[in-house]
Amino acid sequence: LSSAHRAEATILLVEDEPGYVDLLSISLTSRGYDVVVARDGASALIAADRTDPDVTVLDLGLPDVDGLEVCRHLRRTIRTPIVVVTADGAEARKVSALTEGADDYITKPFSVPELLARIRVALRHRRLLAQAIDGGALVLGDLTVDTDARLALVAGEALALEAKGYALLEVLARNAGRVMTHAQLLQSVWGSAGTQTALRTTIAQLRRKLGAGPQRPVIEAHPGVGYRLHVPR
Ligand code: CA
Repeated sequence: LSSAHRAEATILLVEDEPGYVDLLSISLTSRGYDVVVARDGASALIAADRTDPDVTVLDLGLPDVDGLEVCRHLRRTIRTPIVVVTADGAEARKVSALTEGADDYITKPFSVPELLARIRVALRHRRLLAQAIDGGALVLGDLTVDTDARLALVAGEALALEAKGYALLEVLARNAGRVMTHAQLLQSVWGSAGTQTALRTTIAQLRRKLGAGPQRPVIEAHPGVGYRLHVPR
């Protein structure tokens, strides 16, 4: 047979702990992913440049430089999802990483299935967003966001949204699959006038209007961090 091995996706794994490197390399490779390992920040930047990864899993606790610095530099080089790994689950570190352009986070210790789930979510949303942008519209499951008309439709029915509600839904939809911090959402919808209360209230309204259904996007809350629009498969 001449058919070449076609990897599921290339994962750049930036991790210095040998136990995690071994476990994750084996687990990801056995599921059809190509894995490129970088054990410090400097190697990560070189590897990102060379391999053009589909997803990067970046441990924030690296031996040479702060993982947040690495995240910032990687975000300038690659456009694909970055999932950061935090050692302690500290909300402030997660928020900083998301602010530096990370898409998602996972807290150590985590299981292989948990990480695989994050990678699949990242890949799926990235593909979905690449296909979704059709003219001025984003099509995410049952939800269509017509950014030219500034109109959101669910299963073909227009949602009655106020300007801020529409703006919030649009920014979440444009970043589907990505955890957006409270500050990012406040800034893009309200500018400097935003409050946590306004954000929470508008999210609650959007959830009610979106309703529930198998193809219906869900707005996930990440307490102390932000929100993510998650599109079910
Ligand atoms: Ca580490």
